[in-house]
Amino acid sequence: MHDGLRRRIGVFGGTFDPPHHGHIAIAQEVRHSLNLDDVLMVVANDPWQKTAVSSVTPADTRLALSHTAFDSVDGLEVSDLEIRRGGASYTADTLTTLSGPDCELFLVVGSDAAAGLDTWKRSAEVRSLATTVVIDRGGRQGGRPPAGWTHDVVDVPALEISSSDLRARFGSDRPVDGLLPRGVIDQVRALGLYGSCR
Ligand code: ATP
Repeated sequence: MHDGLRRRIGVFGGTFDPPHHGHIAIAQEVRHSLNLDDVLMVVANDPWQKTAVSSVTPADTRLALSHTAFDSVDGLEVSDLEIRRGGASYTADTLTTLSGPDCELFLVVGSDAAAGLDTWKRSAEVRSLATTVVIDRGGRQGGRPPAGWTHDVVDVPALEISSSDLRARFGSDRPVDGLLPRGVIDQVRALGLYGSCR
């Protein structure tokens, strides 16, 4: 319950390469469902699980795209703290930086990742610093955290949008309208990202 004293802050980490309407829909649903004051959209500096297998757009560019996508959305705030910290992005470090007596943290994770939370770096810190929020899509129950993880579940509309599909669309000049904010589309094309035409 909202005790009215501590700010309730959602922490939604992502690569946001590029940010899209799926990210916005999730953040807004979580904010509404759990009565959060704000959701921090934390742009990963080095998403080590992804950079191990593929290349990722430079962090400063993804940060700029995220500002374009999220700044005008009520209750969403872009955070560059992982980029300022540098190096590999670990959730335990991020939650440690954000935690304090004045706020209660809610860590947003996809249900695909939930069952593996014990394998995250310094998972005991992650578990103790935030309430985990597991995202189900379109009423389909996905994975759940291991025993001992306090968690909420939020069901979000199933939107079949992914950053990898968008990168492929930009690269092959297929339509992207309606899948991500107009300003992000323009910025991606202006910068020639993902092999898009200028
Ligand atoms: P990629 O396709 O490159 O893996 P992504 O959009 O899945 O990109 P991130 O930018 O890291 O990946 O997304 C942050 C979080 O948002 C992830 O936990 C991911 O599971 C979740 N997410 C992304 N798109 C959707 C969607 N359409 N519906 C629900 N969750 C999503």
